[in-house]
Amino acid sequence: MHRQDGCIFCRIVSGDAPSHRVYENDLVLVFMDIFPVTDGHTLLITKEHFGDIFEASEAAIAAVASVSVRVAAAIRRELEPDGLGVFQLNGAAAGQTVFHYHMHLMPRNVGGTLALSTRVAGEPERLQEISQRLSAVLAGDA
Ligand code: 5GP
Ligand code: ZN
Repeated sequence: MHRQDGCIFCRIVSGDAPSHRVYENDLVLVFMDIFPVTDGHTLLITKEHFGDIFEASEAAIAAVASVSVRVAAAIRRELEPDGLGVFQLNGAAAGQTVFHYHMHLMPRNVGGTLALSTRVAGEPERLQEISQRLSAVLAGDA
């Protein structure tokens, strides 16, 4: 599987960099965004390194989309947000900052921010708690 040296998301896939993991299968890894814009902000990435939608295979993108349905349901069950933003950015001009294909799932609440990013790190304990709750739902244990 193609990896790119120096890519933070490839390092998360390989386990060389830490993350609060939620779910994985052969093609997709799900973990908490380390700078959550809202509580429960989750990332879904292809395990293989593709820079963006223009490089990614249809199969890999389809796999991310498929998993997103189950992760969205787990977020709704555990966090009960008023809405859920699903978005995916390609190229710096579109706001992409990590150049490894990924999708954002971002819980939204009435009156809350509509920002797409922040540089404020999440509380590790909260990221850990949410990742474990979502993980349990996805594993069918909760
Ligand atoms: P983009 O702007 O490229 O669509 O989103 C990249 C996302 O990756 C941002 O929301 C950012 O907070 C998140 N991010 C950047 N570096 C890391 C990291 O090392 N770990 C995790 N979990 N998320 C990261
Ligand atoms: Zn990568």
